[in-house]
Amino acid sequence: MQASISAKSVGGASGSRMKVAFKGGVSPSSSFVSPLVLKPLNAITSGLSGMFRLVARDLAIDLGTANTLIYEKGRGIVLNEPSIVAVRFDGQRKQAVAFGAEAKVMLGRTPEGVKVIRPVRTGVIADFEVAGMMLSHFLGKVRKKSRALLRPRVIVGVPSGITEAEKRAIRDSIEGAAREVRLIDEAMAAAIGCGLPITEATASLIVDIGGGTTDIAIISLKDLVYSTSVRQGGDAMDEAIINYMRRRHHLLIGEATAELVKKTIGCAHPDYDNQEMEVRGRSLTSGAPSALVVSGAEIREAVSEVVSTLVAAIRQALENTPPELSGDIISHGLSLAGGGALLKGLDRLISEELSISVRVTDDPLAAVAEGAGRCLDNQELYKHVLF
Ligand code: ADP
Ligand code: MG
Repeated sequence: MQASISAKSVGGASGSRMKVAFKGGVSPSSSFVSPLVLKPLNAITSGLSGMFRLVARDLAIDLGTANTLIYEKGRGIVLNEPSIVAVRFDGQRKQAVAFGAEAKVMLGRTPEGVKVIRPVRTGVIADFEVAGMMLSHFLGKVRKKSRALLRPRVIVGVPSGITEAEKRAIRDSIEGAAREVRLIDEAMAAAIGCGLPITEATASLIVDIGGGTTDIAIISLKDLVYSTSVRQGGDAMDEAIINYMRRRHHLLIGEATAELVKKTIGCAHPDYDNQEMEVRGRSLTSGAPSALVVSGAEIREAVSEVVSTLVAAIRQALENTPPELSGDIISHGLSLAGGGALLKGLDRLISEELSISVRVTDDPLAAVAEGAGRCLDNQELYKHVLF
């Protein structure tokens, strides 16, 4: 379902990351086997058992602060896991004990000596060692399924404003698993994933609300005309909910509970104030387990500061738009992607505050991976957006 809300309409409802994409096929540099030989060979090997390929299919990776997605050419999204690693500390040595969904359930419940780490927390890789372990693990999982002999080509989504050193580090952490690594700006990938006409002479406004960051970009003719990254997104909303529950209700809750509350009754618009749920935690007054019923209105108040920051950043982007492009944006509106786009009533609020139509894309959590994946499928059209 596509939620589309205009500034005048009444009623309606509705997380930064790094991305990676790989390409299947043979790079001109891998000269030891000619593509003329490989094609028929591949056809034979895949025809033989259906389980074995000579060359791995191209991949696109969205290495997000909250979730990592891998898109395989011709197959779509083949991996979708939280960007989380549970690590055992043994003196100076770090040993991964669980990855992804398995590590996420350990949040706030780890045994002594084990720490749950989010290596991409702020949009750039915060812990390269652990991020590298995580990527190799996820790539290994995908490759095991594909059973190919030759490594794939990969496209990775990266935040705009990433430094040369950070680009190098990302390439380094993937190079062992890929025979070619290309990068794409995440906002560009999100825009492509949302189906925006980025190759045309019209301006598109994309807002990608991830876990750690929110990326705002205006794109025209395959170029970023404006882009900014705000270090606030879904995580900041979770923290705001934790603080609100402590301050207002003297109830201590963990990150996982805060996220659940946000997804269940969190909202940005009073239309959703009446929802309720029971929230469990530890009473700060008695120290005992405690539960109480909380309303959507309360959670809206809790996250309002984060939401206002995001609205202000979008307002600033609009104010910085060259006048010829403003007209395009007014007529096409704004596209929302990233998991944060699912906060109820956020589209409506932005629409009302900024007098602009707002559309939440079909699958906001997959937009970047889908967009980077589309670059694999249409290389000629999108070659200029890869670097
Ligand atoms: P990233 O690109 O940083 O990995 P994602 O685009 O995967 O981030 O979005 C993750 C964020 O979206 C998390 O903060 C998560 O809590 C939030 N999120 C996911 N679903 C919902 C929902 N239904 N309502 C509000 N927030 C949501
Ligand atoms: Mg993202």
